[in-house]
Amino acid sequence: MENYKLFLYYLNKKLDSHFEEQKPYIFCKKGCAKCCQNAEFPYSKLEATYLKLGFVKLDNETRELVTKNIAKIKKEKMEFKGDKFLYTCPFLIDNVCSVYDYRGVVCRTFGLISVRDDTTANLPFCHNLGLNYSNVVDHETNKITSEKWLQTGIETEPHGFKDISYDYLTGKDFEEKFDIKFEEKRPLIEWL
Ligand code: SF4
Ligand code: SF4
Repeated sequence: MENYKLFLYYLNKKLDSHFEEQKPYIFCKKGCAKCCQNAEFPYSKLEATYLKLGFVKLDNETRELVTKNIAKIKKEKMEFKGDKFLYTCPFLIDNVCSVYDYRGVVCRTFGLISVRDDTTANLPFCHNLGLNYSNVVDHETNKITSEKWLQTGIETEPHGFKDISYDYLTGKDFEEKFDIKFEEKRPLIEWL
């Protein structure tokens, strides 16, 4: 676990610098937790193990609330008939992450633009809600345009990052560099 903590330290530094650089386009605030809702939340075994360390440190009342949330989501999942079961993260209590310091990789990258290749960029979904990057997205094309950017008068160019995709951050390069094993990946609820 010590090596994973070093990896998280490295990741936080990298993401802090990305968020700082893209600050004019970031509208994240404590209490805005739309990215913790209606999703699958991919987690590796290593991330889930670390998250559980955060869970056991919670006070009794919060632990009980999270436990109730987990039971409710699992029941809904069992009754679900569709292809992709989406849910609100059970660790979200009063719109705040109860295990913030222990959250997984995907949770740390919420809000930035992830770039897969030269033509594909994943904008944070919340640009549609008037949040991150909404000030530079052309809502007809769902793309960031130079015109929109120039209209803002902001000097820093809005852009995405190739090095923040979940697969990249939990891939072989980092396993070797930090001597860690992420192991199997599943939706978070399946680890609980
Ligand atoms: S990423 Fe979007 S939804 Fe999530 S906290 Fe930031 S602004 Fe809110
Ligand atoms: S672990 Fe925390 S940050 Fe991640 S989805 Fe759950 S509540 Fe949100």
